[in-house]
Amino acid sequence: MLFHDIVEPFPDTAISECFRAHANTGSACSELQILQDSNLDPRHPAYRRLPPLLDMRQAHNRLFEHSFSDEASPGWQAALQRYKQVMSGPYGSTDLPIKMFNDLDTLIFHGDLKHRVNMKWEACDKVGISQSFGGTLLGLTIPPTTWSVPRIRIRINIDVDWRQLPRKMLIGTVVHEMLHAYYYVHCGVAGYQDVVTERGMDISHGVFFYSAGKRIEQRWGLELFDLQGA
Ligand SMILES: [Zn+2]
Ligand SMILES: [Zn+2]
Repeated sequence: MLFHDIVEPFPDTAISECFRAHANTGSACSELQILQDSNLDPRHPAYRRLPPLLDMRQAHNRLFEHSFSDEASPGWQAALQRYKQVMSGPYGSTDLPIKMFNDLDTLIFHGDLKHRVNMKWEACDKVGISQSFGGTLLGLTIPPTTWSVPRIRIRINIDVDWRQLPRKMLIGTVVHEMLHAYYYVHCGVAGYQDVVTERGMDISHGVFFYSAGKRIEQRWGLELFDLQGA
């Protein structure tokens, strides 16, 4: 979340496997498996290709083109009810990010991330990623490559004590990473070459990222930006 969360891919660890989320019911289980499968590639029937490329401005504007019928649909409204219920709890938990992913995608990202993103917990400190960032790494997003990363990857840092932090910060971190993923979906690797115009911005958090992130924060009552970040 902080600084440059664009890094080289790293393999799944025993820790990321240990924190897999499992569904209570049979039908949702396969969705959770698809989300958490790091190896799902174009040969898999659930693999979903990326759409035609947009520039960052187009992708940004697309995010806020919600039609009335879109938000009136039963699926959207059901996701909204679940969101309100879940967000009434005070603290984070390890089950939340993975189980909420598809609802967050439906509510905020038009469902554009479904099956295109692989998300898991990871012990980012133990795989040696966070030292180079100087601050607390909350999560990171890795663009797809043709070699070892067939899909966009989001990793949420299990080394952060989320049970002590407000739920809106954990889910805000997840949505922050999902916003990176959204720009990768629509803009490819240009999705982290944003225009930087103000202090506090950087190449992966420029005007289009900030503008979208701030609107999402306000509408959904989340914290997407870490204020202690320099
Ligand atoms: Zn970020
Ligand atoms: Zn929508």
